[in-house]
Amino acid sequence: GFLPKSKLISDLSTYIEPLKHTPKAPTEQELSKAITDDQIFLAFQPQIDLQNGRVIGAEALVRWHNPERGVLYPDSFIRLAEQSGLILPLTWRVIELALKQQAQWQAQQWELNVAINIPAAFIKAEGMLDAFNLLTHQHHSALGNISLELTETAGVECLGYACHILKALRQLGCQLALDDFGTGYSSLTQLYRLPFNELKIDRSFVSRIDQDKDALAITLAIISLGKSLGLTVIAEGIETAAQHAMLVGAGCTVGQGYFIARPLTAGAFNAWMCERSHSLAQDHEESMPLR
Ligand code: C2E
Ligand code: MG
Ligand code: MG
Ligand code: MG
Repeated sequence: GFLPKSKLISDLSTYIEPLKHTPKAPTEQELSKAITDDQIFLAFQPQIDLQNGRVIGAEALVRWHNPERGVLYPDSFIRLAEQSGLILPLTWRVIELALKQQAQWQAQQWELNVAINIPAAFIKAEGMLDAFNLLTHQHHSALGNISLELTETAGVECLGYACHILKALRQLGCQLALDDFGTGYSSLTQLYRLPFNELKIDRSFVSRIDQDKDALAITLAIISLGKSLGLTVIAEGIETAAQHAMLVGAGCTVGQGYFIARPLTAGAFNAWMCERSHSLAQDHEESMPLR
């Protein structure tokens, strides 16, 4: 026969018991508190000019230091932010932190580009352009050194209000990057109709170019397409020396990935920069002819 109801419930509770200790998903209240209580911080992943090896800037990647759970990554809270409307205050916080860091670098004579991930909801938000102008003005930001990254899945319609805002941002001097290129459905349309000047090849292609000839063919085609359109082509997710060498050979403009550096805290980024300039200077000395 079948089990009595009480038995079923007790079986079920035994089954879910182990899950009691796995952390549950963060809540809207927690995220809201995180933004006001200074739990949001940024990691910076260096971006280099692939042709000469110089550091040109960094992509700002959001992190959440949750007092109970430790450090949370965007995959665990961006969707929550988007569903709850907290994406707007979160994005403002990210931009503010990025501009502050850039001003800090500027103060130590490092002129670095900062790339910021921007959701479509932010582009469409009322009064965004004025507020953005004010914020960049307050931080004395060089607008040409700010790159706004949008994913192609963002669903920004051509000809619509969002497109008008993107054009205005370009007119201010900001760089506009189409992020994760090659992973969505409308990539070519967006490239054709929206005012992007940078193209980021998705890591799902880049991190396979040394093992998979199809990934390589697609990557080479994207580099060539980007170049013919006059775009800066950025490869993300470079993980090996072989991938790096292939991208240099293919004439790709900019690169980032674990092979160059992981996303770093502001302090670690500083140390990495100093270490790198030190070792580059040493390499240079060593390559000088000895008499
Ligand atoms: P994304 O913009 O494509 O950022 C690159 C992601 O790839 C980052 O993950 C980075 O840590 C990771 N990555 C970089 N190099 C390598 C590599 O060589 N190998 C591998 N396996 N991974 C690499 P992260 O920080 O977890 O960010 C994931 C996504 O979350 C980002 O993808 C971006 O779409 C979104 N995101 C990050 N920061 C923000 C933000 O401030 N606001 C919004 N709205 N979204 C953000
Ligand atoms: Mg990005
Ligand atoms: Mg990307
Ligand atoms: Mg990506």
